Amino acid sequence: MTDIDSPRGPAAERPFHLVSEDTAATATPPLRVDLAIIGGGMVGMSLAIACSEHGIKTALIEAEPAPALTDRGYDGRSSAIAYGSQQVLKAIGVWDLLKDQAQPILDIRVTDGGGDQRDARRPGGVSPFFVHYSHRDLAEDGTAAQSGEAPPFGYIVENRISRVALFERLKACPNVSHIAPATAMSFKLDAERAQVSLHDGRRIGAALVVAADGRQSALRGFAGIGISESDYRQSAIVCTVVHEKPHHGVAHEHFLPAGPFAMLPMTDDRDDEGHVRHRSSIVWTEDPRLVPMLLALDDDAFGAEIERRFGLTLGRVRPLGPRFSYPLKLLVAEKYLADRMVLVGDAAHGIHPIAGQGFNLGIRDVAALAEVLVDARRLGQDIGSPLVLERYARWRRFDNLLLVGVTDGLTRLFSNDLPPLRLARDLGFALFNKLKPAKRLAMRHAMGLVGDLPKLVRGKPL
Ligand SMILES: Cc1cc2nc3c(=O)[nH]c(=O)nc-3n(C[C@H](O)[C@H](O)[C@H](O)COP(=O)(O)OP(=O)(O)OC[C@H]3O[C@@H](n4cnc5c(N)ncnc54)[C@H](O)[C@@H]3O)c2cc1C
Repeated sequence: MTDIDSPRGPAAERPFHLVSEDTAATATPPLRVDLAIIGGGMVGMSLAIACSEHGIKTALIEAEPAPALTDRGYDGRSSAIAYGSQQVLKAIGVWDLLKDQAQPILDIRVTDGGGDQRDARRPGGVSPFFVHYSHRDLAEDGTAAQSGEAPPFGYIVENRISRVALFERLKACPNVSHIAPATAMSFKLDAERAQVSLHDGRRIGAALVVAADGRQSALRGFAGIGISESDYRQSAIVCTVVHEKPHHGVAHEHFLPAGPFAMLPMTDDRDDEGHVRHRSSIVWTEDPRLVPMLLALDDDAFGAEIERRFGLTLGRVRPLGPRFSYPLKLLVAEKYLADRMVLVGDAAHGIHPIAGQGFNLGIRDVAALAEVLVDARRLGQDIGSPLVLERYARWRRFDNLLLVGVTDGLTRLFSNDLPPLRLARDLGFALFNKLKPAKRLAMRHAMGLVGDLPKLVRGKPL
């Protein structure tokens, strides 16, 4: 990663080689790059890294300073990184920097109902209707044949850890100017050129601008791209928990009337006295009206509420560290491109975390866009031309819409307690659990291995 010139000279001594806001240089001529990425979240950073080795000069513009993005208080989420996404992170040199803190997901157990021992409808607690996916089942199909052994479905990694690894990798990237903290405030986009103006007056001219600026994307709004949005009237409570028993790499999801409750296995760590701690990350969907009260409970009461929903499969459960909540909405952009700009990640699609796929979709956007841009560059094409951008948009739209439909359908089907629906679901669970080919297809979908896969998802270089 290189730095752009500033009135104070090179910023090499500053952390992460950032160009800080006090280096504003409104009088200086615009920085000229091939690619300007607005938003240095996990998706924007991955795109900058993927393009950097291929001679695409890139400016990565992020509103937050790097230390804020990796602070424990910024984002309490862990993400399920599907096997296909792990292949991308490996191919772009990020995986080795975080693999020691990535917990393999070996089994997934989905249950209709909770673990409340007092639930009269569920004597004994957890519903007898479940679907169990084991990575060993993949040993019988082509997924395993490639590597000789069945791979895990994916990995659970704290977002904070992924960001640290992405920043670390970014530092070694040629052709990338990481400009942060800096907010992209206005844009000029037409068939001939794209220009971004930052909050301090600096300007960046580019052949292509990418909106990786998340759900509230200012660039998407500026380009006049409409969105369809729907409020699930649910919030996700997220935090790390410790539990008495080891999780053995099993991810659990219980479908409760208020919404899904997931217990995602994390790597063990040690407490201050050196004792091993078994950890998981919870994603607990709730009625937003109850969330403030639940977040304010003391650790014992909060742990007891988790046990009411999850049961004692992992023994006693207690929270560890800060708790977070996220309102849940569906967001779909009406199109992915305008003059000299495209959307990636949450700027293009924001989905319910029920299947842990939002970031995975963003990573597949990155893999496809990087491949399209590198191919265009090899052929001497203008990387911001409609021909190039339409190839990306066509490639990604179907996969994204499919996942939007699946996650939206599952959320609506399972977030209720209507007796006829519950009966149908339970019968469906019992039947599906016995259908091996259908289960295998669902597993390959969850791993991000179905469809027209970009090279990076197949673990191949661009
Ligand atoms: C509770 C919950 C659990 C989840 N679990 C999973 C999971 O298990 N697996 C999974 O795959 N996904 C999961 N997701 C989804 C995943 O977190 C998101 O899809 C992913 O973080 C989106 O990344 P992004 O980089 O596109 O957007 P963001 O993370 O929103 O990043 C956008 C960046 O752009 C910057 N920015 C915005 N505007 C500007 C501007 N004008 N100028 C400069 N910078 C700007 C912001 O500061 C930010 O850093 C979950 C989501 C939730 C809510």
